[in-house]
Amino acid sequence: MARILTGIQSSGRPHLGNILGAIKPAIELSKNPQNESFFFIADLHSLTTLKSGTERGEYVRAIAATWLAFGFDYKKNVFWRQSRVQEHTELAWYLNCFTPFPMLANATSFKDKSEKLSDVNAGLFTYPVLQAADILLYNANIIPVGKDQKQHLEMSKDIANRFNILAGEEILVLPEPQIDERIMTIPGLDGQKMSKSYHNYIDIFLPENELKKITKKILSDSKPLEEPKDPDADITFQLYSLVASEADVETMRRNYINGGYGYGHAKQALFECFMEVFAEPRRIFNYYMENNEELEGILVAGEAKARDIAQETIGKVRKVLGFSS
Ligand code: ATP
Ligand code: MG
Repeated sequence: MARILTGIQSSGRPHLGNILGAIKPAIELSKNPQNESFFFIADLHSLTTLKSGTERGEYVRAIAATWLAFGFDYKKNVFWRQSRVQEHTELAWYLNCFTPFPMLANATSFKDKSEKLSDVNAGLFTYPVLQAADILLYNANIIPVGKDQKQHLEMSKDIANRFNILAGEEILVLPEPQIDERIMTIPGLDGQKMSKSYHNYIDIFLPENELKKITKKILSDSKPLEEPKDPDADITFQLYSLVASEADVETMRRNYINGGYGYGHAKQALFECFMEVFAEPRRIFNYYMENNEELEGILVAGEAKARDIAQETIGKVRKVLGFSS
């Protein structure tokens, strides 16, 4: 049996990148009866980039509703909010003291974020340590994530290893990243990695007219309608090829190459494809967003299951470190 764990930060509304890069692959894995899945909302991590409590609450609900919209079976598995299980922060502190400073200083994601964001705080710097705690608390074996997280998972392994050497036994299970090589890092409206904190994302749950408007904002070059275009260099085409059927993607590819087909046409086709492919998830998402108490009840029940396991691991760690009574 494998334990699968993945989290999404409540730093914004969940987007196409989260859905294709993390949520859908993780739910696929969770359908295997041999697997046990732990999916959580990383609300503590979101504090690195988002300070508003009201917004955080709204995003927590949106992320929870997204997992459910894509068919996650919360009864069979474990589904909770990170901040409600305090063992995450406790273990993170212990692990901080097993993490070499240069390892964090070399993290690509930190470098990226610190160049783009105005608030470069210590939490942003130690983010991978809290992430290691999330994983190691639950003895997770498999971590399905997008490519952008590969380096962080290598760090989790390294940190666990350093702890185990001190303990003289394998107290913390070394996790394996599971990255679907077919799934690229999904580009945002501006062509950079689609990210909640870069505000360049496509929220497929927006009301129809807003979704249409945001789809129109995807960056494209200024080639006129008649001119042939390179599909592989265009963001709209890249996004379309991730969601449309193979035949439709081929048709669009030919349209680009032949010319007489504008970026406006491609964006309209992409928008229509979103509406069609995500019709059912949109319905379920809206249901949960309107039924907050039901959503809250699901998270609270999950929290109790998560806490039981987290306390077991923390007990062993405290003992090794001389913190138990
Ligand atoms: P933030 O900007 O706050 O870091 P994010 O949009 O990067 O938010 P995370 O919560 O950090 O989202 O990541 C959740 C999961 O989604 C991770 O597994 C990550 O690999 C995946 N993911 C995030 N962005 C993308 C993307 N553009 N393409 C593919 N996967 C992605
Ligand atoms: Mg991220």
